[in-house]
Amino acid sequence: TGIIEIDHLSKQYGSGTKALSDVSLTINEGEIIALLGPNGAGKTTLISIICGLVVPTGGTVRVGGHDIRTDWRAARRMIGLVPQEIALEPFEKVINSVRFTRGLYGEGPDDAYIEQVLRSLALWDKRDAATKELSGGMKRRVLIAKALAHRPKVLFLDEPTAGVDVALRREMWQVVEQLRRDGVTIILTTHYLEEAEEMADRVGVINHGQLLLVKPTAELMDEF
Ligand code: ADP
Ligand code: ADP
Repeated sequence: TGIIEIDHLSKQYGSGTKALSDVSLTINEGEIIALLGPNGAGKTTLISIICGLVVPTGGTVRVGGHDIRTDWRAARRMIGLVPQEIALEPFEKVINSVRFTRGLYGEGPDDAYIEQVLRSLALWDKRDAATKELSGGMKRRVLIAKALAHRPKVLFLDEPTAGVDVALRREMWQVVEQLRRDGVTIILTTHYLEEAEEMADRVGVINHGQLLLVKPTAELMDEF
């Protein structure tokens, strides 16, 4: 059994759009999986369902054994979500921003853990800076720190390098490598094959709401 079990999942929006059709996938603890597909493929819908932000039309999702529909709170607690958009309070200090997110999950302060997270993301020296003073790369790392604040077992990165330059993309790859060493299970979405190849152990290709194939990255290279 995997840390995430997706079984015959489907989603049709009220508009009639079929965003996901019969998607089944087991994600193992500690692995990094990339969901690769063009715009409109259904990647964000899939992540949003697993995170409990969108209700599926059919099928089930379990996170750490918790059904997202009947046991949403326990499932959600295991997940950290790094959104695509950078949304930070400009005048808030980095460390307070991370503390705040932890509080949202009903977790008390754990400054030792928060220090560990900020150090691993090379943000400790910036802990008292206002978020508006940070570079784009640092802001992205703050979003990751916030997503890790409640010690999730699984981290979702939605298009972590959308619209960033090459240097920043490499920086994000290094951050993901660091998280892998920390044992975090990572699911990321991308529309770059190169990025999937660089970061992931396995790649799932999504198009038109269907999971077309899931393969170890090394084997995927033979397909293209
Ligand atoms: P991706 O993340 O791969 O770009 P999405 O999951 O965002 O794909 O979108 C999949 C399909 O569902 C697209 O056709 C998109 O237009 C549609 N869609 C996404 N969100 C909504 C929504 N809230 N209401 C209606 N249709 C949506
Ligand atoms: P609840 O507290 O109602 O159980 P959640 O714990 O899922 O809900 O999240 C509470 C609020 O925090 C939501 O509005 C959600 O959008 C926001 N949130 C969840 N995860 C993050 C995150 N990693 N960074 C910033 N905000 C987040």
